[in-house]
Amino acid sequence: MSLTGTYDDQNIFAKIIAGEAPAIKIFEDDVAVAFMDIFPQSPGHCLVVPKEPARNLLDLSDDMAAAAIQRVKTLAKAVETALQPDGIMVTQFNGAPAGQSVFHIHFHIIPRWEGDSLGRHGGEKADMDELEAQARKIASFID
Ligand code: 5GP
Repeated sequence: MSLTGTYDDQNIFAKIIAGEAPAIKIFEDDVAVAFMDIFPQSPGHCLVVPKEPARNLLDLSDDMAAAAIQRVKTLAKAVETALQPDGIMVTQFNGAPAGQSVFHIHFHIIPRWEGDSLGRHGGEKADMDELEAQARKIASFID
């Protein structure tokens, strides 16, 4: 899959936005939905997914890009308060060669702890009960 292309409205994040596929959600508004990554690279790894149907950041409208990064910041601050990591990675991949595997624009929020190594991208599936607990805790710090 190349950097440019046609938006596939059957991708998994489009289905989550449409309510046609399950997700452990943290928050949702008219701009974006945030939910836990089910193959987390660290405990608390979550995603902010703008609702606009865009394959990547290059396709996203300027207005939605601005609105989305505000949600990313809100979620990152809630993750900081809830999980008290030593650092937080915010990543966003455009195109398969850059690491993108789901072709609907999204931002990763990945808490990091001193001495912990980063898990494999798209590696082990998480325990859903643990993800639920993390999501509830993070959500409790969002106004
Ligand atoms: P990308 O590689 O496109 O930047 O990231 C896609 C992310 O979506 C990966 O971190 C992967 O673990 C996550 N992911 C893939 N399928 C699903 C799914 O069905 N539900 C959730 N919550 N995350 C998913």
